[in-house]
Amino acid sequence: MILTCFRRLVQLIGMLVMLFGAPAVAAPLSVFADHGAAIGRATEIFPETDGRLTLAEAAAAYRAGRFAPGDSPVLNFGIGAKPVWIRFAVDNPTSLPVPKRLSIETAWLDQVDVYFQRNGQTVATALLGDVKPYAQRPLASRFFVVPQNFDPGVSEVFIRVETPDPMVVPLYLLSPDALRVRQTQQELSYGVVYGFLLALMAYNAILYFSLRSSRYLRYAIYLAMFIAMNVAYTGHGFAWLWPDSVRWQQWSNPLLMLAFGVSGLLFAIRFLDLRVYFPRVRRVVLGFCAVFGSLLGAAVLLGNQKAALLVAFSFALLFSGLMLVLGVISVRAGQKPAKYFLLAAFAAMVGAVLTALSTWGFIPHNSWTFRAVEVGMLIDATLLALALAYQMRVGQEDRLRAERLAQLDPLTGLNNRRAFYDKTSPLWAHAIRHGHATSVMLLDIDLFKQTNDVHGHAFGDEVLKVVADALRRFVRHEDVLARWGGEEFIVFLPDSSTEAAGALAERLRIAIAGLRIPHAMDVIAVTASFGVAQKGEQHATLDALIASADACLYQSKQQGRNRVTVSLSALAAAG
Ligand code: GH3
Ligand code: MG
Ligand code: MG
Repeated sequence: MILTCFRRLVQLIGMLVMLFGAPAVAAPLSVFADHGAAIGRATEIFPETDGRLTLAEAAAAYRAGRFAPGDSPVLNFGIGAKPVWIRFAVDNPTSLPVPKRLSIETAWLDQVDVYFQRNGQTVATALLGDVKPYAQRPLASRFFVVPQNFDPGVSEVFIRVETPDPMVVPLYLLSPDALRVRQTQQELSYGVVYGFLLALMAYNAILYFSLRSSRYLRYAIYLAMFIAMNVAYTGHGFAWLWPDSVRWQQWSNPLLMLAFGVSGLLFAIRFLDLRVYFPRVRRVVLGFCAVFGSLLGAAVLLGNQKAALLVAFSFALLFSGLMLVLGVISVRAGQKPAKYFLLAAFAAMVGAVLTALSTWGFIPHNSWTFRAVEVGMLIDATLLALALAYQMRVGQEDRLRAERLAQLDPLTGLNNRRAFYDKTSPLWAHAIRHGHATSVMLLDIDLFKQTNDVHGHAFGDEVLKVVADALRRFVRHEDVLARWGGEEFIVFLPDSSTEAAGALAERLRIAIAGLRIPHAMDVIAVTASFGVAQKGEQHATLDALIASADACLYQSKQQGRNRVTVSLSALAAAG
């Protein structure tokens, strides 16, 4: 039931995608028309079911009517298919030879033998494929391009393709100019894709080196692996990077597909913090990578390319689904940045699945389906970059909040001693430089131990809060008020002489003494003692000034509490 539905869906997608494809071309092909679309429907095909055929045997099989018409513009025989013969005819109605290019646009095909025949005679042969060094190609191209002058009359073309890879055979017959234009357009589009991804990769590598957070490194590696995989299967790698490494050319596709998927999962593990949120899922993901890594390793050791490709393609499809699942469970666990991740994984999956299905032969192969993975990856990369930026912002906000919390006294909400020093040190430096009058006020609640003992510690806390609120109401915006410790408070007063500071202390003393704090059925009153000192010659540091204020506070306590003592030395200097 589900399978039927799936097949229907695939057929429907296939039909939709075919709308972008070419109308069927009737054989033989005219040398005049530039066949911009793949010419599969103008061909006839014959799989080599009973052992290898020579050209003569294949031609005889064709004459015997054993070839079947090509059923799609891009011929596709799936992974590990038997070698296949493809035949089509070209008609030149003029009296002069016409130059054409036959372009076979799958970079990974192992052996592609091309024969041109006239009246049953072979007039040209080109033996291509990526098991031969790149330099041996008749034309330098990441695809297999054969130049041929078609003489007047009808010519036949026989092509034999053999490969364990997905046997996708997009055939194009173009004029030299049309092929050049087509190649330029393709290279331009790859330039955009690689340029965009490489810039993102470089930027995230830089972020890693400056921020030292491995998520940026893993993201950069994920992008690098996608580029490496894409460069390999599009043939750019063989053309640019390893033109002589025929062996690596054979194994790079499955190996880089696995590397890409593993790097994506390692990024997901870090980005979604699976170690913390879903440790079991993380182990499953690592196990999944290990299993497929071992399977691929075994296939490589056994030299079984077909098995390696099946492992790699299965892994790629499961990888896409797994990324989606990781996104879903993380969103459901309430991780906000995971929403971006989920969208990104979804875009990448749609692209990858379209490409995989078109390569595997389930849906028609054209540049929309075959290159869907690149579009998906551009969207994926962009959304993940946004997700990383979002995560960075959230982290920054958390840090700021933590910093703010670390500066506050939790009971009264006033600055703590550390915040007091942080905020006053620039003010103190300013006062020293410009010789401004600056004062410090210390106050201490009287007999607070008794209050605690008589009414309980909780009520003591309540008193501290009420006194803190009263202080907050009286100090100016530019003053720095803090809980100095216990039931002691401090106020730093920039631009204030002892007169001004003493007057403020007196107002505060009266205000505190006037507080009536409800407790049980009663109201309780408290008082506080004050010490005020103004910065003078003897105060080289803020601590020295605070010590003077403390000495005054001690005097207030000595003289009976609930009073203000102003430093005499400052008064003397002022007077
Ligand atoms: P004095 O007038 O000489 O300052 O007497 P005092 O009792 O206020 O001074 P002392 O230093 O002997 O006692 C201070 C008390 O303040 C002791 C301590 O338990 C209490 N205290 C300090 N911090 C807190 C707090 O956060 N909450 C409460 N409820 N009590 C506190
Ligand atoms: Mg006290
Ligand atoms: Mg005390």
